[in-house]
Parts: sequence; C-alpha cells; structure tokens
Amino acid sequence: MAQPFDPATREALLARVRFYRDLGLTEFYRRPVDPALIAHLDPLSVAAEKEEPGSQPASRASSSPLPLAERVGSTEPQPSDATSNLGAPGLASETWDTNSSSHSQEGQPIAPRKPISSPPAVSAAVPTADRVTALNLIREDIGDCTRCALHKGRNKIVFGDGSPTARLMFVGEGPGADEDAQGIPFVGKAGQLLNNMIAAMGLKREEVYIANVVKCRPPGNRTPESDEANTCSPFLFRQIDVVRPQVLVALGATAATYLLGARQPLAGLRGRVHAFRGMQLIVTYHPAYLLRDPRQKKEAWADLQIAMRELGLKPPVKG
Ligand code: URA
Repeated sequence: MAQPFDPATREALLARVRFYRDLGLTEFYRRPVDPALIAHLDPLSVAAEKEEPGSQPASRASSSPLPLAERVGSTEPQPSDATSNLGAPGLASETWDTNSSSHSQEGQPIAPRKPISSPPAVSAAVPTADRVTALNLIREDIGDCTRCALHKGRNKIVFGDGSPTARLMFVGEGPGADEDAQGIPFVGKAGQLLNNMIAAMGLKREEVYIANVVKCRPPGNRTPESDEANTCSPFLFRQIDVVRPQVLVALGATAATYLLGARQPLAGLRGRVHAFRGMQLIVTYHPAYLLRDPRQKKEAWADLQIAMRELGLKPPVKG
C-alpha cells in the first residue's frame, strides 16, 4: 500500500497544486489511490483554513481528494522583481500599498472535461433608474435556490454588493465562510485585500459592484464544479447586463473561465483588455491567491492599472 507523504512533502505538493490551480490549471490526472489513504490525506478540504473562525480561507482548493499532478503545464510566472520602480504593492498580508476533478478509477478511462456553458446573448440595456428593480428581480428569480447541490451546505445566498450604476465591476469565484455567514461577497480576508485594491484605484467599495460565479459557498471552499457554475452563471450574466459596467475585472481563473466560456490559463489572459459583451474585461489574480503569494501583487496592480487607464482614473495622491 502507498504510504502517506511526510508533512513537508505533503505541504510542498499542496502548495504546488494550489499554485497550478490559481493559474487556471485545474484538471489534474492521477493514478488510482487507495481510498483509505485518501481519507487519511484529504488535504484540499482546506480544513486547516476553516479552523480559523471568522477568517476567509487563504485558498480555494481543487476538488478533494488530493489530485496529484501527473500532467501540468509550464506557465509558471517568474517571481516579480519587487525592487523595480513600478510601484509594487506592499507585501504584507492584505495590505495594498502601491508605494511599496477528474478521478480515474482503476481500469476506467479518465472522465472527459465537463463543458463550460457559452455566455448567453446580451440583454437589452436597463435605464439607470430601473437598475435596482432589475437587480431585485434577478434576486427574486434566484429565490431560495435548490438548482444545484451547493444549496445543501449554504447559510446565505451571496447575491452581489455595490452600486447598480458602477463603472467597474469585480467577479470572484464563490462565497467563503464569512460571505456565507453574512450574505455579502468579499467580506473576509480576501475581501479586505480587495477593498484595499479598490481604494488604491481611488474608488470606494460602494462605487463598484461585486459578484461571484456561484452564489452559494462550495463545501470546504473547493472550486465550483462546472455543473454548479453553469447553473448559477446565467444569474451573474443578468447582473452584469443590468449594471453594464464599463470595465469588468475577473478575479482568478474560475471567474475568467465562466465569463469567457472557455478554460484558458490565466497567464495568457492577464495584462490586456478583452472585448466582452460591449464592455472591457480585464483578468487578474484572485485576492486569495495574492494573500498566499504576495509577490504577485505587483502583477495584479499592473492589471488594475489597465482598468484605471480604461476608466480614466488616476491613483489617489497620498497625503
Ligand atoms: N472569494 C470569492 O471568490 N468570492 C467571495 O465572495 C469571497 C472570497
């Protein structure tokens, strides 16, 4: 029987798998593993992160059990040079200082990747005065949703937050523990970092709109399955079409995948403007990933500066 990894190897493997997942490489293949061993490991349930009460988990893990990567890409970005003069954001936790699963069973073929739904047609524009009503209607249509399995573990549906007339909208992956408890997106540690990113852009959180691909918390903060995301994303598209921001920022690979309707590595999507439903879409790292690898904040800040350029924003002057 296979032996469990020693803690250091296990931690290194977990970090590596999370890293690939953050880059959009989520579908790993592995050889069959003894179920007893899986039960012993089950590391990507992110239990350790859940144990911290009131804190946003630092990572969103791939579906457990641990998918040991046997086939991974090589799009690993090089660590940024934080000493360059590009204005790297601060490296400490959620600070944003701009001055500074496919499980193959034995003998069975590997299951094909589940398809991602194509984005629906763009809806008619909603006049500014009617947007609150239009958003409320979407919320009513969601109701006490039981359309996918995620409803079983949720406390609150996390619909969205912010201005219905926002020029800038952020889309994340799905609620974590804090969001599930409060019914508001991005209120945990990743949310604090997002707030700091918004402030660095010279905006207030109330001026932007924030929503997620799925509106119920995936168990253990795992990545939403495609059937869950495909079921929920039509509501997100309706929200986007009502708010109709000039610029939409996809936070992480899951948001980029379900907005664009295709799986692509994050590395190939970042750093440029995508034409999207008559808006400008910018893809950047998820704040939870930036909490884990603060060296990438500089890259994310470069993406946000593209958004600022498109919006005609200048960073606030520090007093
Ligand atoms: N991560 C997300 O993707 N969304 C949230 O609302 C919170 C954390």
